Amino acid sequence: MNKDNNSEIKAIGSCNCGKVKFELLQALTDVFVCHCSICRKATGSGGIAVTIVPDTSFRVVSGSDAVRQWTKPNHDWLCNFCLYCGSPLPGKNDELHTYVPVSLLDSGYEQLQVKHHLYVDSKAPWEYIAGPGKQHLQAFQH
Ligand SMILES: [Zn+2]
Ligand SMILES: [Zn+2]
Repeated sequence: MNKDNNSEIKAIGSCNCGKVKFELLQALTDVFVCHCSICRKATGSGGIAVTIVPDTSFRVVSGSDAVRQWTKPNHDWLCNFCLYCGSPLPGKNDELHTYVPVSLLDSGYEQLQVKHHLYVDSKAPWEYIAGPGKQHLQAFQH
């Protein structure tokens, strides 16, 4: 990885109230939509659309003191959110990656495309999933 790529800002994002701002150092391409029952409760909607970047491509610019975290007991699931406005925020996806809810992006989202739908088994009965994204009944399988 060369230094020039690493220092270039490819996308920026913020929460609803603007206290939390972050930037991404990698061009974004793929969207994963999770339809699981926990993500549906967390958003009060059909699920959450995120992109996934290496931790090294993500940094909080301001408002890190406004970030709160909730972990669902007995589940491998966590949600970061803004203390002031409640917007879901980026969080730890796995050891080396951060997930970023794509609707937080203020720039750099233009080329994003839905590539995968996860936990389609748990989708809301009223939701109809369309488009080219691959549908996985449960967790993402390579
Ligand atoms: Zn906020
Ligand atoms: Zn989910």
